[in-house]
Amino acid sequence: VGSSYSVVREPTGRFGGAIANIRDITKQKRDEQQQSTFISVMSHELKTPVAIIKGYASTLSRTDVKLNKATKAEMLTGIEEEADRLARLIGDLLEVSRMQAGGLRLHPAPFDLSDLAADVVAAFAATVDQRFEFQLRFEPKLPHVYADQERIRMVLSNLISNAIKYSPEGGVIRLGGWPENGHVLSYVTDEGIGIAQEELPKLFAPFYRVDNRLARETQGAGLGLYLTKSIIEAHGGRMWADSTLGKGSRFYWTLPIAPPSLPDVEPSVILA
Ligand code: ADP
Repeated sequence: VGSSYSVVREPTGRFGGAIANIRDITKQKRDEQQQSTFISVMSHELKTPVAIIKGYASTLSRTDVKLNKATKAEMLTGIEEEADRLARLIGDLLEVSRMQAGGLRLHPAPFDLSDLAADVVAAFAATVDQRFEFQLRFEPKLPHVYADQERIRMVLSNLISNAIKYSPEGGVIRLGGWPENGHVLSYVTDEGIGIAQEELPKLFAPFYRVDNRLARETQGAGLGLYLTKSIIEAHGGRMWADSTLGKGSRFYWTLPIAPPSLPDVEPSVILA
């Protein structure tokens, strides 16, 4: 707690002001700390691909070094991959800064989450290898959710891409949902490496990555789940995870159900 807070005594003698101030300072300190971690992690994450691209490009442009075709092709692929990584990072970074600057601007509308999930799964199924099987288990006649469809597409993509990334042996990836207390509760589950219980509360913090071999080998800045949860919370929903180490993980989230659409009114009734 910072030492510069002042006690605001109200005429009634209450200390409400002081408490608010202490909280403000703590929050401000935390924000500043987060900001500096943000900048140092992000600059490291950005510098690495740039350094690799520069290294490959300068080797390729040297006339005194003879490279065989295969090595050249490898370096060009490396440049392409690192550029992709850079583009993804910049995209995430822009999203985070947009969010921190003014919250997320949502364009909510009613839509069928199971249709969207089928759409996103079809796109993934076409690109990932045979080790993965996708199962859709949404309750039939699921009520429409009221949400920003493009943001929810991003949520589904992030969760599915994590399920793939952290399941080296492949396995079944299930998506499903059902209505519950005015919202739709949905999930994505995998049969991957799982997450230790003590890591679960930290997963959604910006830049958090579980320290394991796979995390070191896979790309990521630890922003995906932070963005994903922020999107769900901006819709008034909740998000959490549950996991068994070595068995797999389950990510759950809620979204509000769309209010029933207004009954169609006969034009003649309006004119009357
Ligand atoms: P990234 O994948 O870019 O590191 P995320 O924010 O998406 O960042 O995830 C944070 C961390 O949570 C990951 O680094 C990983 O350690 C862990 N994680 C996320 N999804 C899963 C999953 N489905 N199975 C196991 N671990 C996961």
